[in-house]
Amino acid sequence: MRVMDVGPPRAVLVAAFDALDHEAGIALYARAPIVDSAPLGPSHRRYANSAALVECDLAPLQLLALLQRIERRFGRGRAQRRGQLWRARALDLDIILWSGGVWASPDLTIPHREMRNRSFVVEPACAVAGAWRDPVTGLTLAHISARLGRKRKGAHPKG
Ligand code: ATP
Ligand code: CA
Ligand code: CA
Repeated sequence: MRVMDVGPPRAVLVAAFDALDHEAGIALYARAPIVDSAPLGPSHRRYANSAALVECDLAPLQLLALLQRIERRFGRGRAQRRGQLWRARALDLDIILWSGGVWASPDLTIPHREMRNRSFVVEPACAVAGAWRDPVTGLTLAHISARLGRKRKGAHPKG
């Protein structure tokens, strides 16, 4: 498969949405707004985050394989091995929630393990599926997002 020319983070996400949209068997119902992060990490790279709401009849592991295939098309292949420093990657596609509740297998955990701690995950996910409940805590994405927002404010008091 050809490695795509990887552009700025926002453009990569737009192209990734389009790639998902073009997959046979996946219906892309909603795209969250793309949120740029502040320059982050030792390399001061900029990141962009978003979320998609999709319907498909693939089993979770099949969907993961498909997402990893798309990641590879965006240059995340042998030169950017899984588990390598996060700053090196062009595109990271994770499964956050699915309609079947909890999934736990060696290669896949749903809900995503770090979801509840990451506002850059929960905020976009909330934009496309705010009423969706985390099957582990019973909280909606909207609730988790609000809670993370409060934590952030508490961690950086003004004045
Ligand atoms: P993080 O879990 O912190 O977001 P990452 O996305 O940087 O980590 P990767 O190197 O992209 O980590 O993936 C490592 C492995 O995580 C994948 O090969 C996959 O098998 C596994 N994995 C487990 N749960 C999920 C999930 N919900 N979505 C995507 N990958 C997952
Ligand atoms: Ca990730
Ligand atoms: Ca990942």
